[in-house]
Amino acid sequence: MDLRKLILVLTLLGALVPFANTFYASYTVQRQQLMDTTLDGNYAYANKLAKSTEDFLQASQLQLAYTAQLLAMKMDDVAKLEEEAARLRMMSKSFNSITIFDATGKVLATSPETLGLQGRVLGSEAVMTALREKRPLISAPYQSATGNFIVFINHPVVSASGRYLGAVGGAIYLQKENILDRLLGQHFYVDGSYLFVVDKQKRIIYHPDPRRVGDFVQHNVVVDRVAAGQSGKGATVNSQGVRMLAGYAPVTSTGWGIVAQRPEAATLAPLTQLMQSTLYRALPATILTLILILWSARLISRPLRLLADGARKMEDPSSAKDIGSVKSWYFESRELKKALLIGIDAFHKSFTKLREDTATDPLTKLGNRRRLDETLADFESQATPFSVISIDIDHFKKVNDSHGHAAGDAALQQLAQRMREACRAYDVPLRVGGEEFLILLPSTTLATAAQVAERLRRTVEEMRIPKVGTITISLGVANWPQSSFEVQAVLKAADEMLYASKRGGRNRVSVHQREVGVSS
Ligand code: GH3
Ligand code: MG
Ligand code: MG
Repeated sequence: MDLRKLILVLTLLGALVPFANTFYASYTVQRQQLMDTTLDGNYAYANKLAKSTEDFLQASQLQLAYTAQLLAMKMDDVAKLEEEAARLRMMSKSFNSITIFDATGKVLATSPETLGLQGRVLGSEAVMTALREKRPLISAPYQSATGNFIVFINHPVVSASGRYLGAVGGAIYLQKENILDRLLGQHFYVDGSYLFVVDKQKRIIYHPDPRRVGDFVQHNVVVDRVAAGQSGKGATVNSQGVRMLAGYAPVTSTGWGIVAQRPEAATLAPLTQLMQSTLYRALPATILTLILILWSARLISRPLRLLADGARKMEDPSSAKDIGSVKSWYFESRELKKALLIGIDAFHKSFTKLREDTATDPLTKLGNRRRLDETLADFESQATPFSVISIDIDHFKKVNDSHGHAAGDAALQQLAQRMREACRAYDVPLRVGGEEFLILLPSTTLATAAQVAERLRRTVEEMRIPKVGTITISLGVANWPQSSFEVQAVLKAADEMLYASKRGGRNRVSVHQREVGVSS
């Protein structure tokens, strides 16, 4: 995880979470609103139709009452009765058939006459109740004598003297085209909305699908409530498993219940489209914001990333240059860059000093064995030919013994100074042991090195050292690659020459010749 990804994640969260939240909130609010509107609409509609049905039933009962009044004087004139029945059926258009029967339930006339019921005694529950109670009634749905599933509405026929003569009744054929179709069925929506009517027993007495008429509806809260005489609205699932938003209202006089419903999906269909177009509209700005976020995350993180890269390879000499070129355009990165540059500079300085120190002899300030190794490695890698002068103070033990160690140290320091003076800028004077020294002379012939050695020998010889007086040195000179192709062998050759000088009486220079063992 780097800063850029962190910024990205954070800003994306900051941008997308509120967006998603608003989107979701608006979705829920609009969804609820749509559902409420549909529920309210269906509720109002169910109520209106319940009222219309109530009005229709009342009107048909009035028509029957009127006919019953006319019939009271004609109950023994079958032709008149049939005429009246036909007139009632044609004019009211409310009933599929009309039946007139006497006080025993015997059919006197029907319309249409083709029913073939004349003379038969009706035994249905509806007729029995009508005969028993002798008052206007609307039956529960039942299977009639002619095999139709009907609702039977009747009115008693009473003589002027108040004697019960029978009744006139109209049947609504629930499974055939009937008045309820005209009353309820016209308001049929194309989007799957429909309404149906149940009786008190939750039996369907009207449904746009005639095959459903007569079915009992079970496990449906809405039907349970409307059958119990309540009105209201609510979500339910129909017999096909479709979620429906229903409004319901009872027809009080019959105990019927009207349910108007619309598929939830149809209600919510516009919402999906609405949300889609909201998304599309929001998309350009969102994409632009995302690009802006990507771009600025890069812009913000870039200086810090580059500074971090530079800091990671701090020991690399190029890091200061890399860090120096970072475009630190804001405060924190600018300060960080400044601090890093100061830190790297200090680091390099102390590192260089440390390296210098570890390669320097503290007493004489000449290079030590480490410097020797480094220098030789340099020469070797660049194939630089060089000469080497090996130096040892003669009888130095005596100097120490006679004048003390401090005086000996002073002598060492003074010799070191003479060595430095004898060296050219690129020669390397070294202290490689207690009182043993080397001078490396790059690109210098054996002869020149021999001259340098001789000059040094003489200078030292003439040098006055406080307390000590004079000292002498013995020197050996060798050359790479003249003395040997092996660098270490060249050093050894110079040492051998040094010892040759010692053997030869000290205070002299011996130069390595190609023939091993021969010296001058
Ligand atoms: P030779 O002519 O054979 O070289 O005789 P020498 O006495 O110089 O013998 P050698 O080179 O073996 O002696 C080294 C002496 O140098 C031993 C020690 O007392 C002395 N010495 C070594 N290192 C130091 C130092 O750092 N300071 C002082 N004052 N003396 C040192
Ligand atoms: Mg020695
Ligand atoms: Mg010595």
